Amino acid sequence: MSSTTQSLDKLLFTPGPLSTSASTKQAMLRDLGSRDLEFLTLVRDIRTRLLRLADVAEPAYAAIPLQGSGTYAVEAAIGTVVPRGGKLLILTNGAYGERLVKIASVLEIAHTRLDFPEGEPIDADQVGAALDADAALAYVVLVHCETSTGLINPIAAIADAVRTRGRCLLVDAMSSFGALPISVETLGIDVLITSANKCLQGVPGCGLIIARRARIEACAGHSRSLSLDLHTQLRGLDQDGQFRFTPPTHVLLALAQALDELDREGGISGRGARYVQNQRELLAEMRRLGFRTFLPDARLSPIITSFLMPADPKFDFTGFYQQLSERGFVIYPGKVSRADCFRIGTIGHVFPSDISRLCAAIAEVLRDMGVALS
Ligand SMILES: *Cc1c(COP(=O)(O)O)cnc(C)c1O
Repeated sequence: MSSTTQSLDKLLFTPGPLSTSASTKQAMLRDLGSRDLEFLTLVRDIRTRLLRLADVAEPAYAAIPLQGSGTYAVEAAIGTVVPRGGKLLILTNGAYGERLVKIASVLEIAHTRLDFPEGEPIDADQVGAALDADAALAYVVLVHCETSTGLINPIAAIADAVRTRGRCLLVDAMSSFGALPISVETLGIDVLITSANKCLQGVPGCGLIIARRARIEACAGHSRSLSLDLHTQLRGLDQDGQFRFTPPTHVLLALAQALDELDREGGISGRGARYVQNQRELLAEMRRLGFRTFLPDARLSPIITSFLMPADPKFDFTGFYQQLSERGFVIYPGKVSRADCFRIGTIGHVFPSDISRLCAAIAEVLRDMGVALS
């Protein structure tokens, strides 16, 4: 299967927004009223299905959709859960971890950061030690898949260190949810944040929070923002099934279709298997061309791969990007501060045959540029 057969769009090999199926885009060709029974049923259904994907159920857990991109949902989660006077431990090993620090700073939330080098996994023992050293750190937040490098943090060990110490755990699983199994209750995650347009393969415009219900219900009055308040968002959904403010109706229509397609692909394990195949194809072809990855093999993930820029002075990323884009393939700049990289995502509605075509185009562009690798 190849995705280009159904669309004239360029293929997106990025961290998001991602390529979506034609049927997901088509599902948006409706106008629904926000109070209409059809829409309320749609929201109800999506929320239940999200819980199932996270391996949890009502009433102990609740799924809360929130308008905006993923960052809005992360900001809402942090700003709602951490009370005034509360203190947050932020675990970082890349640009998306850095964004968590920025959110805490803007919201004026007291925080301690525990930094690990980019490309090195967060170490659960050090997390435990940091929590033991400061009893005030009642909240912990981290990024599951650091989309800047592609590295997946060892969530089970970290969650264990947090849970056994009775602290509250928030996880930015934006780029991993839908691709990797995340059993929220088994791991002891209090709040998981993702969005419609990454591995769920919906369109952008809605953040998705899966949380222990009691945790959110205890947060009345915490939020520093009116619109980014998960407590009142959940209360509104409980009371009348509605969003408090204009809901992204088209985005939710697309998400329902995307969730059907996720089921048909065999759920998270089926989708994850395709991403693994995509990435395997990418690595084989890129290595044949002489590219090297930023991460060692054992740390690579099926989500996204950071490649080192070729050393040949004839290589120019802007030209490379442009030439690929003209051929219908969109890649992404790097986001690693200690190495010059570019990124190729293997998530979204793209298939191994699309990866081969991308790599054939890369070979062509390198030849045109006169770049010699290896
Ligand atoms: C994509 C992503 C986000 C959200 O980014 P937006 O641009 O706000 O959608 C947050 N965290 C991670 C790890 C991501 O990959």
